[in-house]
Amino acid sequence: MRCWAVVLLGFICLGAASGQQMAITFDDLPAHGSLPPHETRLQVAESILKTLEAEKMPPVYGFINAVGVSSTPKEEVVLKAWRAAGQPLGNHTWSHPSLEAVSAGAFEQEIAKNEPMLKKYMDGQDWHWFRYPFLYEGETLEKRRAVRGWLAGHGYRIAEVNMDFGDYLWNDPYARCSAKGDKAAITRLHDSYLATADEYVGVFRKASAMVYGRDVKYILLMHIGAFDARMLPELLALYRARGFSFISLEEAEKDPAYADDPDIGVRGGGAQVELMMAKKKLRFPANHKPDKELEKMCR
Ligand SMILES: [Zn+2]
Repeated sequence: MRCWAVVLLGFICLGAASGQQMAITFDDLPAHGSLPPHETRLQVAESILKTLEAEKMPPVYGFINAVGVSSTPKEEVVLKAWRAAGQPLGNHTWSHPSLEAVSAGAFEQEIAKNEPMLKKYMDGQDWHWFRYPFLYEGETLEKRRAVRGWLAGHGYRIAEVNMDFGDYLWNDPYARCSAKGDKAAITRLHDSYLATADEYVGVFRKASAMVYGRDVKYILLMHIGAFDARMLPELLALYRARGFSFISLEEAEKDPAYADDPDIGVRGGGAQVELMMAKKKLRFPANHKPDKELEKMCR
């Protein structure tokens, strides 16, 4: 019997080591998207945190826009809850500006203005991770290099993205459909959310294979929205079923792929692998987000 146990354990370990790995990140703390009636920002955060704990997830960064706390002070409870659960926070600028709409200098001030809130909650811990709003990294090379230079000079690392199915698109329709009590529509949202997440596993794995000839350690972009909170247990189950295990952002960014800087000015931004493909003049794999269908639902 002992031999069988050893053989079996060996097999299980080998299987786990050969799968894809992914870090999960949440943007826009304390508030993202519309809320269904009677749901609060704190409930959304607590639901996500409960799932992360139940699923024994490694640390998950929440990227903050402190303007939300300034405009709605009671929402600071979201940041408190995130930290009380042992999850780290990172910088997503003060008010989520588009880098394509402001100068590099104004954008850098936005990053700096967000820092006191990070220092308050992440005292003594590593909060020097930066996530670009909208994944816009600069429409000109000059602007891109200026901001990246500022970030490096201030000790920041860039929280890259290499898995993104547009999770945020479902939050507003979910709030509308909930307000109408349209359960059939919510079932359709549920199904299309998981189907789209699944499609983009294939899209980003293909892109990764085209640029790096392998699976990179992926980094998933999520948002702190009500539907994201509701769907998180099933989303994690989907990724596990597709062979993913979960790692921290720090662990993911040890992948040498993230040392690659596409070093191009691109309007509309994109995930790291998308920009690498733009640099190499490769065509991004065919994909479809149901944004137009979602926009029409429960109007
Ligand atoms: Zn954002």
